[in-house]
Amino acid sequence: AAKVQGKGRQVAYDSAMDQRGAEQARVAAELRTALDLGQLRVFYQPIVRLDDGGPVGVEALVRWEHPERGMIRPDLFIPAAERTGMIVPVGQWVLTEALRQAAQWRRELGPDALRYVSVNVSPRQLRETGFAATLRDELRTAGLPPSCLMVEVTETAVFDGGSALDELHAVKRLGVQVALDDFGTGHSSLGLLRTCPVDVLKVDKSFVDNVTDAGERSVIAEALIGIADGLRLRAVAEGVETEEQAAALRRLGYQYAQGYYYGRPVPAAELTSLRRAAAPAGRS
Ligand code: C2E
Ligand code: MG
Ligand code: MG
Ligand code: MG
Repeated sequence: AAKVQGKGRQVAYDSAMDQRGAEQARVAAELRTALDLGQLRVFYQPIVRLDDGGPVGVEALVRWEHPERGMIRPDLFIPAAERTGMIVPVGQWVLTEALRQAAQWRRELGPDALRYVSVNVSPRQLRETGFAATLRDELRTAGLPPSCLMVEVTETAVFDGGSALDELHAVKRLGVQVALDDFGTGHSSLGLLRTCPVDVLKVDKSFVDNVTDAGERSVIAEALIGIADGLRLRAVAEGVETEEQAAALRRLGYQYAQGYYYGRPVPAAELTSLRRAAAPAGRS
C-alpha cells in the first residue's frame, strides 16, 4: 500500500523502520550489559483469593535498575528484547531467579504460604526447542515441584501456529501450570481453547476497569468468567484497583484477582502479605 502513495512516502517509511530497528538494537545491546552487570531485578505481585484477599501465588515481573535512569519498567525494553532475541537470556535469568526466590519462600514460610510463582514467557522463548526441558531442569535445580511454577503466555503466541502449541503441551505434561495472559485481547479461537493445554485465564485489565459499569465492558467480564467456568479453567482478574471492582467481580463469580488494590509489584523482601498469610492465626 505504501508503494502506490509515491516514492517519497516509501522512502520515509523505510527510514522510520530502519530507525526503529537501530533503536531496538541499541536497547538490546544495553540490556545485554545490564544483564551481565546484574542490573535486572524481579519484582513480585500477589495473586489473591477474592473472598478473603489471601495470597495464592505471585507474578514475577522484571525491572531494569538503570544507574542513571532509575527503575525501568518492562514495557520499555521487552518489545526490543523480543525483536532482537535478547528476551531468551533475559527470560532465562528471570526464570532462574523467580524459582530460586520461590524455593526460599517455601523453606522459610512453609508450602502453604505460596502455592506458585507465575513467570511471563515470551513467544520467542516458547518457540525455542527444549523450552519444556529447560523448565524441568530449572525446577530440579531449585528443588521445587512442577506445580509451584505457572507460565504466562499470550493467546497470540499460542494460536499463531508453529511449534508453540506443541511446546506448551510438553510444559503441561511436566505438571507446570499454564495461564493465558491478557485474555480477551488476543487472537484466541474459543474452539481451540477447549483443547488448549491451559489451566488459568488471566482476564485483561481493560475488562476489569469498567466492571462496575452497566456497559459492554462488564458484559465482557461476565462472558469471560462464563467461558472459564464452562471449560473448567480458573480465572484471574487482572488490574483490580478498587474495592468496588473486587465486589463486582465477586458477584460475577470470579475467585481470583491481582492488582494495585491488593498490592503493587515489589521486591521480594517487601512482600509482607506472604509472611502474614504464613503466620499462625492471631499473630502478626
Ligand atoms: P502482564 O504480564 O500483563 O503483567 C501485568 C502488568 O500490569 C504489570 O506491569 C503490573 O505491574 C501491572 N499491573 C498490575 N496490577 C495493576 C493495577 O491494578 N493497575 C495498573 N495500572 N497496572 C497493574 P509491568 O510490571 O510493567 O509489566 C508489563 C508487561 O511486561 C507484563 O504484562 C508482561 O507482558 C511484560 N513482562 C514483565 N516481566 C516480564 C518477563 O520477565 N518476561 C516477559 N517476556 N515479559 C515480561
Ligand atoms: Mg503476566
Ligand atoms: Mg497480564
Ligand atoms: Mg498485560
